[in-house]
Amino acid sequence: MKTKNILLENFPKELENLKKIALNLWWSWNPRARELFKIIDPFLWEYVNHNPIALLNSLNDDDYKNLINNHEFMKEYHLVSALFKDYLNSSKIYTDENTYKIAYFCAEFGLHHSLPIYSGGLGFLAGDVLKESSDMNIPMVGIGFMYSNGYVKQVIGSDGWQHGENQPINKDEAPIERVLDKNGNHLIIQVPFIDPPIYTAVWKVNVGKIELYLLDTDIEQNSPWDRGISSHLYTPDMQQRLRQQIVLGIGGYAVLETLGIKYSILHLNEGHPAFALFERIRYFINQGLSKEEAIKKVKSTSIFTTHTPLAAATDVYSFENVGNYFKDYVKNIKMDLNEFFSFGINPDDPHGFNMTILAMNLSDNINAVSKKHKIVTENIWKNFLIKTDKKIDYVTNGVHIPTWINEDLYKMYDELIGNWLEIQDDANAFDIIDDIDDKKLWKMHKKYKKLMVDFINKKAQKKWESGADPLVVIAEGALLDNDILTVTFARRMTGYKRPDLILKDLDRLYSIIHNPRRPIQIIFSGKAHPADTPGKQIIQRIFKVCEDPKSRGRIAFVEDYNEEVAKYLIRGSDIWLNNPRLPLEASGTSGMKAEINGNVHLSSLDGWWPEGFNGKNGFTIGGEISDDEKDAQSIYENLERIANLYYDRDDLNYPKKWIQIKKEAIKSVTPNFSARRMMKDYLNKFYLKISSNLRRGK
Ligand SMILES: *Cc1c(COP(=O)(O)O)cnc(C)c1O
Repeated sequence: MKTKNILLENFPKELENLKKIALNLWWSWNPRARELFKIIDPFLWEYVNHNPIALLNSLNDDDYKNLINNHEFMKEYHLVSALFKDYLNSSKIYTDENTYKIAYFCAEFGLHHSLPIYSGGLGFLAGDVLKESSDMNIPMVGIGFMYSNGYVKQVIGSDGWQHGENQPINKDEAPIERVLDKNGNHLIIQVPFIDPPIYTAVWKVNVGKIELYLLDTDIEQNSPWDRGISSHLYTPDMQQRLRQQIVLGIGGYAVLETLGIKYSILHLNEGHPAFALFERIRYFINQGLSKEEAIKKVKSTSIFTTHTPLAAATDVYSFENVGNYFKDYVKNIKMDLNEFFSFGINPDDPHGFNMTILAMNLSDNINAVSKKHKIVTENIWKNFLIKTDKKIDYVTNGVHIPTWINEDLYKMYDELIGNWLEIQDDANAFDIIDDIDDKKLWKMHKKYKKLMVDFINKKAQKKWESGADPLVVIAEGALLDNDILTVTFARRMTGYKRPDLILKDLDRLYSIIHNPRRPIQIIFSGKAHPADTPGKQIIQRIFKVCEDPKSRGRIAFVEDYNEEVAKYLIRGSDIWLNNPRLPLEASGTSGMKAEINGNVHLSSLDGWWPEGFNGKNGFTIGGEISDDEKDAQSIYENLERIANLYYDRDDLNYPKKWIQIKKEAIKSVTPNFSARRMMKDYLNKFYLKISSNLRRGK
């Protein structure tokens, strides 16, 4: 299949590899490749938001001539080209040689901030799954959405209210390519069996060795209503949301068929793409299987990963709504509407069509995303599981280490361990961290804290330039300090995560953070979903505290949380705070990202933390049951204890005890919560088992 990016059509031959690297997100997790784009023009690189396509498109013929004549640049260019070639050709086998290809469907992918097609944790998990599968040569293809308007660009006014603006993606400049049809035009596919017809264009993202295809209904061939299907993530309009999920499941399946991409295993990340399961039944019936055989085959070769700890948070559609779209479709799978509906009926609430129940009904391989979440999941679907005799397994989430660790650690491991990426999930490989000089680690940390504060200051400065109220500039972090103990709460701003819990007793909080010998500053960041009014009210409450002179500019709200902001915060904060209402955090991954950088998790015992906490690598909040009052008290007690440890300095002003906690964080979390460990779990629990059954004709 042919693809093209129209902006890089006429590219200098001498730099052909630069174009290839720009069109493959591999560059984003390789430090030398990142550096290569930066040295072309550091200011321009910032200006284009680290988007290599936009960077290369801004250069003129003279710029290219200069690069080609720049001996130093060309040396680095040839080296990175060789690294890229070696990466693409590396064929180290972590899988069984006969592992069958997996199609991985998800409504969002978090890969890089130049491609804002994500809202939060689900997307970053999906992105890290693709990156790690590429590193490990796991045969996989991804399917998702090209959201023309991105997620939401957060702008906060002086009243603290979040105003959402669209962030339209310039598709030509995004790090994506058009998939072309036989005539060299952009490939457009009709979503099968949907009447009136809906069309989708197809884009491709190269994620190392993995291809990710994105569906895009925002094209001329569609009516305005249909164009809107892929315009926003998770639209609250239930009719449009259903149409989104039909396009993702049914349309996504059609994309793979049209491109002739063969796969044998279907992995659904959350319930949004679950209609793909029906398309698979249809496919097997067309291959000559009976309906019963087709259903059996779909069940045995599909994996469903659930991320929801709450039945009420799953998508449920009215039968009428679903029936309207599928009344003719069902004939293709030899069903009537009642039989079709039966796959989506939750025995505890049989009045609608539930996408999670659908996914569980048609997959025999179901997993939660942490050990604790498995128990929570078994509880919320108890009656369904008893009725169907299904089991829930779990694969605890992990994070893609080369993406999330800071460059200094990356280089330190290169020197200290050598080929460390090969053994990144070995539980004891990182004990060698103990050999790193305390001073070196502390200096590194201070460097990243300064980078974080500079980054936040620069953002605040831009806000000032744009005419914002000075109070807003202060609230957004203009007065933050480079040196003091920094506690960060950054994630989606929504009720169950209790973002403002730490503000519960403000007098108590001020007395702790304004202790002249042991000062603390607090950073918040995160967006509320545009339809989540209570979430916006929480942001407003926090923002008002940031504006209050009593907080002395030491409580700040960083606007527009995204992957770039996250990278600065997880690398530069001392404490990563998480205090969800139990048991509503299925896993959480940002705490892992902080810990692998040596920054310390302070969290309720929810999601991954009961598995991650070992008594030495962080702190816990509250008990087994959430209680706002007690949990807030627990946070305050922790802060006092932490400040004591943090400011306990030796003769040379190093916090020895604190650095030991940082080392424990790195040692324990890096191997065990790496995406490498996670993908090995997916292989061992599902992909290899299914492959071996398939090989034996089962
Ligand atoms: C990792 C990450 C998340 C997910 O973190 P949680 O702990 O699940 O909230 C969300 N947003 C961004 C930008 C991230 O990098």
